[in-house]
Amino acid sequence: MADLKSQTPVEIDTALAEIWERSYRPTERAVALRQRVKFDAERVASGRFVRRMSAEQITKAIADAEKFEAERDAILAEAVPFEAEFEARGRWNRYYLVDNTGGHIHRERNCTTCFFSTVYSWLVDLADYSESTMVLRYGEKACTICFPTAPSMAGWGEYGKREKAERAATKAAKKAEKEAGYIRVEFPEAIARLGSSVRTFKTQRAAEIELVQAAVRVREYQRAIDNGTANSHWGGLRDRDQSTVDAIGGALGELRGVNASWIVAELSERIRAKLKRDDREAEKARVAYEADRAAWAKFRGDADVKS
Ligand SMILES: [Zn+2]
Repeated sequence: MADLKSQTPVEIDTALAEIWERSYRPTERAVALRQRVKFDAERVASGRFVRRMSAEQITKAIADAEKFEAERDAILAEAVPFEAEFEARGRWNRYYLVDNTGGHIHRERNCTTCFFSTVYSWLVDLADYSESTMVLRYGEKACTICFPTAPSMAGWGEYGKREKAERAATKAAKKAEKEAGYIRVEFPEAIARLGSSVRTFKTQRAAEIELVQAAVRVREYQRAIDNGTANSHWGGLRDRDQSTVDAIGGALGELRGVNASWIVAELSERIRAKLKRDDREAEKARVAYEADRAAWAKFRGDADVKS
């Protein structure tokens, strides 16, 4: 482990957040197992139900719970030196964001304005930042119970204005693109390119070409999978291209008030034609390759030349 004394608060809190996150799974599993045993005992104690778990099942559930608890404790032990460093430096500021729309930023995870079940995101990037910097960046998202002087700081009220301006800019851009006849396609995160999940096509035709190409690739990958000639990752590539077909089909369909499948059906002739062209090209390439090999074999005077 790197020397903790030389690590920044952000580095230490990032490591801690990762350790705690890893501890959630064994914790949850242990709690679930213990609850199962407890509920079964309560059902029986009520006198209205029979036992659901056998003695063996109860013994196993408790043994498994203990195993998960030991796993959790081992993970949490990793956090000890990091927390000790936090204490040794006299504690720095930490900020937590409540994970819901309009959620606020708090100083502690037990703020009185939050419910017991509130889910927090730990803003580790803000470790050791002053309250005024936090307010400058997040403005009125700062909880006024945790940070009573926040409304008097610079930046208060700016967050909402910024958000509003961003929303207005996005809306204006969308409107301008629509007026220009642009097709705006939102792709699922998994296939978003260059960090952007939105692509704009200047014409319907451009969007259709992209759809047809993706649809052809879907069929080519599928054919190879069915033939058993595909590489192991081709299923993933097929799904990716299918998502492209769905996204563009959806956008074009919306424009014309029909389903994505309708658009794909309408383009099916072009898809089939392109598939045929691709097949012809592949066949031509194969014939040329064979001819080339034969010519080479003749040149070498060796009819059995191996590729
Ligand atoms: Zn608070």
